[in-house]
Amino acid sequence: MFDSIKKIFSDDEGKPVSTTAKPDISREKSAELYEKAKTYFPGGVNSPVRAFKSVYGTPLFIQKGDGCHVWDADGNQFIDFCCSWGPLILGHNNAKVREKVVETIQNGMSFGAPTALENELAELILKNNKYIEKIRFVSSGTEAVMSAIRLARGYTKRDKILKFEGCYHGHSDSLLVKAGSGLVTFGETSSAGVPKSFADETIVVSLNDKEALQKAFKEFKDQIAAVIIEPIPANNGLLLQHKEYLQFLREICTANGTMLIFDEVISGFRVGFEGAAGYYQIQPDIITYGKIIGGGMPVGAYGASAQIMDHISPVGSVYQAGTLSGNPVAMGAGIAQITELLRMGFYRDLNNKAQEFAEAIQRFATARNYKLKVFSIGSIFWFAFTDKDIRTAEDIDPQSMEKFKKMHRELLNRGVYFGPSGYEVGFISSAHTKTDLEKAKRAIFDSLDVVFRSNN
Ligand SMILES: *Cc1c(COP(=O)(O)O)cnc(C)c1O
Repeated sequence: MFDSIKKIFSDDEGKPVSTTAKPDISREKSAELYEKAKTYFPGGVNSPVRAFKSVYGTPLFIQKGDGCHVWDADGNQFIDFCCSWGPLILGHNNAKVREKVVETIQNGMSFGAPTALENELAELILKNNKYIEKIRFVSSGTEAVMSAIRLARGYTKRDKILKFEGCYHGHSDSLLVKAGSGLVTFGETSSAGVPKSFADETIVVSLNDKEALQKAFKEFKDQIAAVIIEPIPANNGLLLQHKEYLQFLREICTANGTMLIFDEVISGFRVGFEGAAGYYQIQPDIITYGKIIGGGMPVGAYGASAQIMDHISPVGSVYQAGTLSGNPVAMGAGIAQITELLRMGFYRDLNNKAQEFAEAIQRFATARNYKLKVFSIGSIFWFAFTDKDIRTAEDIDPQSMEKFKKMHRELLNRGVYFGPSGYEVGFISSAHTKTDLEKAKRAIFDSLDVVFRSNN
C-alpha cells in the first residue's frame, strides 16, 4: 500500500509538465525507401496497417532488432511494444531461437516430407496443453482459422458460422465479414471481393451480449457449424470478456451441437502456456494458433481432440494441405521459443512485469485526471482514451483515435515504438527489462502530458 502511494508521488513529483511536442525524428532514409516501395507494392507495403495510415508520417523501415529494441533505416533506436504484432514473446533476435534456426538450416530448408522436428514441436505443445490432443501445422494464422472452419463444417455437416463484431480471424473470405445493423445480422462483407453468398453464411453478433446469441441460435437452429471467437479479443482494442460470458458461449454451443472455436492466434502461449483456454479453464472444440508458435517464422496450427482431428485428410474427409507446412526451419524456431516458455516462472515473471507497467501508467493518468484507461491481461496491454468500460467494438469512440495519433508521434520522438494504430494492442516481451520499462514509462508520461495539456 505504502509502496503504491509512494509510486503515485514519484510518478508525478517534481517533474515539469512537458506540454511541448518534441521535434520529429529524422526519417529521410525511411521516407526514401517508402517512395520506392510504393512503386513495387500497393500502398508501399505487404500488409496494410504497416502503411502508417492512421498515424503521422511515413512508415519506419526497420533495419534490425535486438532484445526489446529496434533500429530504423535512419539509425533511430526504439523500445518496441509491437514485437512483430505478438510473435516475439522473447524479444528480437533471441540467441536460443537464432542458434536453433542456424543449426537447422545447415541441413536444408524444406523437404516436403516429414521430419523429426515436427514431432518435437508437437510433443512440446501437446504434452503441456490439456485442451488439445492432436495438432496440424500450417503456415499462418489465417490458414489455421480457415482450416478450423472447414473442419467444423465438415464435422457438423452444417454451413453457417457465427462470429463477433470486433474479432479478427485473418483474411479468409467467410471471416472478412462485419455486422450489419440490428441485433443479429447476416454479415456484410468488409472487403471488396468477398461474394455476398459467402457473407450470407456468416452471422455476426456483438460481444458480451447473451441475448443476441440466444436469438441467433433460435433463428438459425441446427444450421450453425461453429461459433468462432477470440476469447481474448485483441485486434480491435482489447475487449476483455467476462469468464461467465465465455462459459455461456460454451454451454449454448454444446446445447446446439455447434463447435466452439477459440481463435488463440494472439492469446495462445501469450497469457500462459495453455492460452485463454487455460486462463479461463474452458474447453473449446477446436483451437487455432499462430504468432508465438513459430518463434518469428511463419507458422500457424490448429488442434482439437484426436477424434475431431481425425476428420482431417488423409484419415478423414476434410481436405487441407500445404507445400511448406511443418517447414523444418520454422519448426526449429518454434521448438526453441516454446522450450523457453516452459521454464518455471516464465509467465509469472513476464506477467508481473507487464502488470506493474500497465498499473503505473494507469496511476499516472488517474492522478492527472487524464481520460485514459489502460486495459491489460498477461503481457498484452491497450490504451483506450476514454473513462468508460470497454467490452465491445461499439464501445470504442472513433474520435478518441485522434489522441492515439498524437501520442504515437510523441512516443516515436522519444524512442518508443507502438504499432501504428490505436486499435492495436501492445506486447511486452521477456526481453523488456525493468530499466527499459522505466524509460518507456517516462516517455509515455511525457507524451500523455503533450496529448492532454497542449492546445494544438
Ligand atoms: C493475427 C491473427 C490472425 C491472422 O494470422 P496471420 O498469421 O496474420 O494470418 C488470426 N486470428 C487472430 C486472433 C490474430 O490475432
